[in-house]
Amino acid sequence: MKAMPLKTRIPSRLMAPCGMNCGICMGFLREKNKCLGCTTDSPQKPKSCLVCRIKTCPVRPAHSAFCFDCRKYPCPRLKQLDKRYRTKYGMSMIENLDKIKRIGLRKFMAEENRRWVCPSCGRPICVHNKKCYACGKVIHTAALFIPI
Ligand code: SF4
Ligand code: SF4
Ligand SMILES: [Zn+2]
Repeated sequence: MKAMPLKTRIPSRLMAPCGMNCGICMGFLREKNKCLGCTTDSPQKPKSCLVCRIKTCPVRPAHSAFCFDCRKYPCPRLKQLDKRYRTKYGMSMIENLDKIKRIGLRKFMAEENRRWVCPSCGRPICVHNKKCYACGKVIHTAALFIPI
């Protein structure tokens, strides 16, 4: 069978300081009221993200874009978010952050762009509902990890 050409090209600017990949967020992928990601000030951003205390955390060094550079990493707030995502959505922010630190952002994004791919059309699938917003396919979580 011919491999599905990858059409998922989530840019690194969509990685939030907490380790969330905004490119696979329901808020980013939906057509209406699209949020443009953590690092932008889009008015469609949900309140929970507008008031996010991780994004604006003063403990993170000014030069750093990610929590792994923080002396308190991983702090209780980040652990709580990570636990919620691991439990509800099968994705770990702390794992993401550790991996970015280990292999670099460029390689990490390449891995993400293979991991969250719809097998039917090659577009990104959503971490929250495992749905492809391009073709409507819903994918089983177990099929999501393709190591590189
Ligand atoms: S809703 Fe929050 S997590 Fe989703 S894309 Fe916007 S900032 Fe990122
Ligand atoms: S790990 Fe916690 S304390 Fe450190 S920058 Fe991130 S949110 Fe702030
Ligand atoms: Zn699809």
